[in-house]
Amino acid sequence: MPAVVGLRDATEQLTGNEHVILDGTSGILIVDPTPSQIKTYRERRAIEALEDQELQALSVADSVTLDGHWVTLRANVDLPEEAGFAARSGAEGVGLMRTKFLVVGRATMPDEEEQYRAYRHVVEAFGGRPVVIRTFDVGGDKLPIGSYPTDPNPFLGWRAIRMCLDEPELFKTQLRALLRAAMHGDVRIMFPLIITLDEVLQAKHLLNEAARELDARGVPYRHDVPLGVMVETPAAALSVHTLVDDVSFLSIGTNDLVQYTLAVDRGSANLASRFTPLHPAVLTLIKRIVDVGAAHRLEVAVCGEMASQPLMAFALIGLGVRCLSVAGRAVPLVKRIVRGVSAAVAAEAANAALESRTAREAEGELRRRLMTAFGDAPFLRDGLPSFVEGNIFEGSGGLNTSSAHE
Ligand code: PEP
Ligand code: MG
Repeated sequence: MPAVVGLRDATEQLTGNEHVILDGTSGILIVDPTPSQIKTYRERRAIEALEDQELQALSVADSVTLDGHWVTLRANVDLPEEAGFAARSGAEGVGLMRTKFLVVGRATMPDEEEQYRAYRHVVEAFGGRPVVIRTFDVGGDKLPIGSYPTDPNPFLGWRAIRMCLDEPELFKTQLRALLRAAMHGDVRIMFPLIITLDEVLQAKHLLNEAARELDARGVPYRHDVPLGVMVETPAAALSVHTLVDDVSFLSIGTNDLVQYTLAVDRGSANLASRFTPLHPAVLTLIKRIVDVGAAHRLEVAVCGEMASQPLMAFALIGLGVRCLSVAGRAVPLVKRIVRGVSAAVAAEAANAALESRTAREAEGELRRRLMTAFGDAPFLRDGLPSFVEGNIFEGSGGLNTSSAHE
């Protein structure tokens, strides 16, 4: 289903009797389109259907650059039911399973058994391939059941790992379910919103307690589950060298990293144009994380929405990222980028982007080189299609399936 969000007062202005075209790729709603616009969109829909077929054929192709660098593509899974689709899209595992669906909007907390079944479902959909499951990233504006304090600024508030460490029983219930689900495949546990090593050590301590509780009950579980952290704050990015000895992998959450680095609320429609992942500060932080990870032979993935967009995926490959976790729908699209570029050219483009003074300049550097590789392919086009004019509402749409615009 195409979707566009952030259309401001569109629903107030429209009566419901207009004809509209909803363009989820460009993020626009065209009101009472002209016959020529309708014709153009019909043609475009036919071209996209053909493109989709071509892309689906890529699901079994290798994810390797022209100069032989492998880029692992995994999928982001928000609900267990999405696992089958993600697996069929050619994803080599799950790079981020968000678990808040278990908590948000419910009247009771899920018990260990319910969680175990949900995790096991996803793990089994992916056979023996890696499934990175993130512990609860709730709190702040998404509190679980109970009378918990609310913060005036939820994004800087009591949430994610902070809440889990303060609510050890809630956290250990999840950890026990994860340790048990890990018996069925390659589960990896990931902690969100880490800003200091202390949090990692406390989380590991609680994981050990959870394991002992399973021992006491005689319940089987996996003992060597790899642990990783999300690097999604400037604090974690700048001090990532302090974390590397105690984790098995890093995953960069660019949705939050951009928000916290630029002080731009990721959910604000008013600020959408200021949410610029190619800002020099963001690129510099990503480069630093990748370099520190490489020096310690740690896998560094990117699981924010940035990785799902062709131009940005190109930038990330150039920055040295070799694992991208993207929306299931975007797996073939990103694979096409991987297979169509050389890592050397991507590195040159990323260096030029890093030296740029603004996000716009960086985008120009990347786009120029990517267009050399792909020509004027429709999926690389920027901004509004030239044939769009007249009565439109602009928002954001496309492949963005995350909570970025919830
Ligand atoms: C991120 O912050 O980039 C991320 C992947 O996590 P979420 O979008 O769930 O905050
Ligand atoms: Mg995040």
